[in-house]
Amino acid sequence: MSKWVYTFGDGAAEGRAGDRNLLGGKGANLAEMCSLGLPVPPGFTITTEMCNWYYANGRRYPQEFETQLDAALDHIGKATGRRFGDPAKLLLVSVRSGARASMPGMMDTVLNLGLNDETVEALASDSGDARFAYDSYRRFIQMYSNVVLGLDHEVFEEILEDAKARLGHELDTDLSAVEWQEVIDLYKARIQEELEKPFPQDPREQLWGAIGAVFSSWMNQRAITYRRLHDIPESWGTAVNVQAMVFGNMGDTSATGVAFTRNPSTGENSLYGEFLVNAQGEDVVAGIRTPQNITEAARIAAGSDRPSLEKLMPEAFRSFVEISQRLENHYRDMQDLEFTIERGKLWMLQTRSGKRTARAALKIAVDMANEGLITREEAVCRIDPASLDQLLHPTIDPKAARDVIGVGLPASPGAATGEIVFSSDEAEEMKSVGRKVILVRVETSPEDIHGMHAAQGILTTRGGMTSHAAVVARGMGKPCVSGVGSLRVDHRNGTLTALGQTFRKGDIITIDGGSGQVLKGAVPMLQPELSGDFAAIMEWADAARRMKVRTNAETPADARMAHSFGAEGIGLCRTEHMFFDGDRIVSMREMILADTEKDRRAALAKLLPMQRSDFLELFEIMAGLPVTIRLLDPPLHEFLPKTEEELVEVAAGMGVSSDKLRQRTEALHEFNPMLGHRGCRLAVSYPEIAEMQARAIFEAAVEAGRRAGKLVVPEIMVPLVGLKKELDYVKARIDAVAKSVMDETGVAIEYLTGTMIELPRAAIRANFIAETAEFFSFGTNDLTQTTFGISRDDAASFLEIYRQKGIIDQDPFVSLDIEGVGELVRLGAEKGRATRPGIKLGICGEHGGDPASIRFCEEVGLDYVSCSPFRVPIARLAAAQSAIRKAG
Ligand code: PEP
Ligand code: MG
Repeated sequence: MSKWVYTFGDGAAEGRAGDRNLLGGKGANLAEMCSLGLPVPPGFTITTEMCNWYYANGRRYPQEFETQLDAALDHIGKATGRRFGDPAKLLLVSVRSGARASMPGMMDTVLNLGLNDETVEALASDSGDARFAYDSYRRFIQMYSNVVLGLDHEVFEEILEDAKARLGHELDTDLSAVEWQEVIDLYKARIQEELEKPFPQDPREQLWGAIGAVFSSWMNQRAITYRRLHDIPESWGTAVNVQAMVFGNMGDTSATGVAFTRNPSTGENSLYGEFLVNAQGEDVVAGIRTPQNITEAARIAAGSDRPSLEKLMPEAFRSFVEISQRLENHYRDMQDLEFTIERGKLWMLQTRSGKRTARAALKIAVDMANEGLITREEAVCRIDPASLDQLLHPTIDPKAARDVIGVGLPASPGAATGEIVFSSDEAEEMKSVGRKVILVRVETSPEDIHGMHAAQGILTTRGGMTSHAAVVARGMGKPCVSGVGSLRVDHRNGTLTALGQTFRKGDIITIDGGSGQVLKGAVPMLQPELSGDFAAIMEWADAARRMKVRTNAETPADARMAHSFGAEGIGLCRTEHMFFDGDRIVSMREMILADTEKDRRAALAKLLPMQRSDFLELFEIMAGLPVTIRLLDPPLHEFLPKTEEELVEVAAGMGVSSDKLRQRTEALHEFNPMLGHRGCRLAVSYPEIAEMQARAIFEAAVEAGRRAGKLVVPEIMVPLVGLKKELDYVKARIDAVAKSVMDETGVAIEYLTGTMIELPRAAIRANFIAETAEFFSFGTNDLTQTTFGISRDDAASFLEIYRQKGIIDQDPFVSLDIEGVGELVRLGAEKGRATRPGIKLGICGEHGGDPASIRFCEEVGLDYVSCSPFRVPIARLAAAQSAIRKAG
């Protein structure tokens, strides 16, 4: 026979903290608190397996469940000396949901269950407080009717408001017992009218109704959405906790409250919480009355003149402090507690790991390690790597007042203040005279890159989390709020309209890329704090980490920033990004559009010194750390003149007619450029491009080595190889250039030549490719694109539909598809090592900064991950956690 029900209470429990999957988080922790001998109202937990059975069998219960439920009710009865449904020995219960993962407020709760016209009188005489009894009964009717019978809250609010107006009362607390009785009669009449049946008087019927309602709430829309957002599987189900009621609203010696064992926003090690005298839990949450501070210290700090729990109920306070410390030590983590004091006696209703800000999480982890409560490795594992993003950017001071004029998507973290500009050219102009600006656009396009660079932050009224603005801003580490549909941008008149207010160029706004808010004016900020607790966690992470963390960077600014974030080299320098600035694009276009090798070489000769100085700067910034430079990769059409004006300019530079150039441009047109003439295919067709780049790299390495007084060993990477012979061909050219530069300079050059593995064929043939390649870097952006056969530039539109329909869990361009693309990475790594043991293996696709993908890289045993600069700390932490988890 299956066991569906687990009891707890009176210093013992059938379940344990470890039974979370079966009993849900709340049930497991209630059981654990009982086993620790803490004062917990006795009760029982109906398992998550029951929830699954209930759904699998057309919302029914198995026969033996009823027997087990009766036995469990008897258990509560024995522990309390009462009996469910017996007015002479009144026992009331609460019925609450409790899933494996906390889903705050998503599912249903019923309190005061067991009250009816008869038992309410028993409660009145038991408590000696008729007002309290009738207030509890009307609360129960309201809650039950809403949760179980499906009636709107408003129905009851209306009746209550009418009654108060009639009786001349302002507050609920002004109503007398008799007046509440009148309200209850009106409530019951209304239920009869709406549902054509009376409010259930039988406590057992009430209990069955409440259990069914809690199970049903697992499938309500709120819960479904919450699960989708938090990746909680439907198959987990929820447990139901039934517990003897204790009352925080039995007069002035009763209270109810919530507390954290440490401050959840700062992490400070002091009890932090609030309570209300003569109230039930829902009153604290409802926010109608202002709660009081628990400790004297907090009361003084808040400047409150209302007494603390410490002063008001010193006895209960002392036991609460003692219990909260015990629980924190027991769980070895900051706890979020709920309690009730009934006529001076403390009862614990809940304990769980407390939610906290990223800043608090760091402080708590570091403090607990220093206190000896957890190890340094545990401290490292306590931090969510993704949350570090918040700490690397300025954030709005939580104490600051916010004048919100619009809310959009939190597209790229951090907050920024500046003057409004509506075009990228304006942004650049203002920046050049030292002004700080926010670029406001309907949406951005590649032509806005310079404006985005110049701005402090970007605001768009259209576009989602993967819009151009969002993706580029994240890459740049700039705050961005996208898709603020309520704002109107009028580019022509240069206005931004929000909530009936009109803003113009030069007006100051603030954007909060963490919350998606747009605020009027400047708002005080907190600067990122990379020392202190952050530095401590990073140091401990580095000690635990096996994989190296490099960065994808090509500009000196990005390389410097990544270096300051702890990057241990450059894993991918995309040289094509270096060809867009100023004159370079003109020389680049001349090179691409040249008809003959001779003309191409003439254009390349102009690019050589620019490339050389770029590489020299990168080598110097990285000061001896490895730098991987990739040869030109993208389809050439990306560089082609887009407008007639540009075409004329290039034609003049090359001394050819515009017509001839137009013909050449058309000849270069490709239907599928991403699968076209790109990557090493360019180097095979135009080896002089690869030769120029190799020369720039070697000459820069020689110069950097000379300046630093030690050898610089560049890593030259050939993109999009599918055939070993492609790599052989390009490597021969690189080697020939190396030899020339050595002969010319008389300096011996050491270097590595390797390839990206970004085509399925390359992974499958990696053992052959490794005969030539001295390193592999997995380009999982292209590898995902080519494995799935979906375009990385166009997939966002339908991948979201796939996600909503449950066909995929995650965008495979964000988090590595471990089963498919990952299998190719594993195969490539194994085959590479089989030919060349010790071959250097890394990853440089976007996945190199994604914690789940990093964990996979650790499993496969890659030597390093490479990611965008702002992801470097995240990758350091994620790599450390992966190593610790693998070892443990
Ligand atoms: C890749 O394909 O994963 C890669 C890093 O190269 P790119 O994104 O430049 O194509
Ligand atoms: Mg690629």
